[in-house]
Amino acid sequence: MTIVDKMLTCRDCGNQFVFTAGEQEFYAQKGFTNEPARCPACRQARKAASNSRAYGERANNYGGQSSGYGRRDSRGSGDRPRFPAVCAECGRQTTVPFQPTQGRPVYCSDCFQSTRRSSYR
Ligand SMILES: [Zn+2]
Ligand SMILES: [Zn+2]
Repeated sequence: MTIVDKMLTCRDCGNQFVFTAGEQEFYAQKGFTNEPARCPACRQARKAASNSRAYGERANNYGGQSSGYGRRDSRGSGDRPRFPAVCAECGRQTTVPFQPTQGRPVYCSDCFQSTRRSSYR
């Protein structure tokens, strides 16, 4: 089968442009069954437009990936780290908003409440 250059009419600007044999081959390799509907200039313009959109998405993805790294500065905005601890009273696994100190009892919120209440008595 011989491939020859084709003249096509751009859908956007109406100009005639050449769909070269090389491009046709490229399209065939890519599995594209449609002929290009637009001239190279219009294709470039559309590509640039969609690229800027894709770039935005990529930038967002990039930000998402690096967020675990760069979000350190948001510390103190209510998302404090919590440390796993075992309650000295009931033995339940709990988390505390501070680094548990060796030798000092850590209470879960329930027992903390009740120890406070009992100390008031
Ligand atoms: Zn065009
Ligand atoms: Zn407890």
